[in-house]
Amino acid sequence: MNLEISGLREIVDELCTTTCLEREQLRQLLLMESPEALEYLYASARRVREQWYGKKVYVRGLIEFTNYCRNDCYYCGIRRSNSRVERYRLTHKEIVDCCRAGYMLGYRTFVLQGGEDGHYTKEDLAELVAEIHRLFSDCAITLSFGEWEREAYECWYEAGASRYLLRHETASQAHYEKLHPKSMSFANRRRCLEDLKEIGYQVGAGFMVGSPFQTVEDIIEDIYYLKELKPHMVGIGPFLPQKDTPFGKEKPGSLIMTVKLLAIIRLMHPKVLLPATTALGTISSNGRELGLLAGANVLMPNLSPKDVRKQYTLYDNKLCTGTEAAEHRERLADKIHQIGYELAMEKGDSLVEL
Ligand code: SAH
Repeated sequence: MNLEISGLREIVDELCTTTCLEREQLRQLLLMESPEALEYLYASARRVREQWYGKKVYVRGLIEFTNYCRNDCYYCGIRRSNSRVERYRLTHKEIVDCCRAGYMLGYRTFVLQGGEDGHYTKEDLAELVAEIHRLFSDCAITLSFGEWEREAYECWYEAGASRYLLRHETASQAHYEKLHPKSMSFANRRRCLEDLKEIGYQVGAGFMVGSPFQTVEDIIEDIYYLKELKPHMVGIGPFLPQKDTPFGKEKPGSLIMTVKLLAIIRLMHPKVLLPATTALGTISSNGRELGLLAGANVLMPNLSPKDVRKQYTLYDNKLCTGTEAAEHRERLADKIHQIGYELAMEKGDSLVEL
């Protein structure tokens, strides 16, 4: 389906206002393919991101601290049933050392991400967060550690974590059930997001683009859900198969659809923090640049110890070298500069009001 530029202009204007688009308009936008129309959409999203965040691209140091996981998501390479993964778990000291290395490189946000590893108790993680908070008091601590009781979230917030990333994965319950085993619950994931928001975290939701069984209608649900949740951050990236999972032979999500969705999300959530993800960089060598030029404004280079990076295999061929590596900051700065933006090392809070 091809949208005339004039019709598109109207849709883009509407996206920027508080009212949400009608289903039919969203459907047209999601199916639109003409290069001129896409460029118009991306340019509109760039304008909005520059209005709020200027030319800055925020960077976050990502520490993948454990690849043990009690869950069994069909898409994920570190799922419990994958016996081919070499499991690792960083010690408290190793994690603090990663932060120290990141701090020396100029990073002022640390994202601690992991599988849902029950080895770390609520208290362990609170102690770790408190220590990072004490040692690097001018840094933001983001957790991305999955679904826990409200009490645990409260405890980590009090210890000094101020942001939490928990993608909703899909806003359609029927679709959720096709991506996860029965032991996992759609309602609980939503409960977690609501709790996190109420506690006062800056919250990041999001989903995979092109995950198996996903329809355009499902994506429309995702867009409506984000509008309702009003998260501070939105993480989206293409689904990529991992060969040792039940979805190992499924086809990957689309680069263009992902970039298009980044632009749509920027227009609907002008002040949101929007990463150009590793998955986007993995699907195409210039994927992250395309994302940044369509409204994304965050990058999350890898700060994990080099010897474990290859083991956090959410999907095949996951980038972890080159500009993906936190230690290559200068190379990354050059790349960003080439597309007219600048690296911003500061904490970079979301402008979305709590
Ligand atoms: N345990 C944490 C972190 C999960 S990994 C949590 O539950 O939030 C971070 C994100 O990677 C997931 O939310 C998922 O959206 C994404 N991911 C997992 N497997 C993937 C795959 N095969 N392709 C693309 N993204 C994937």
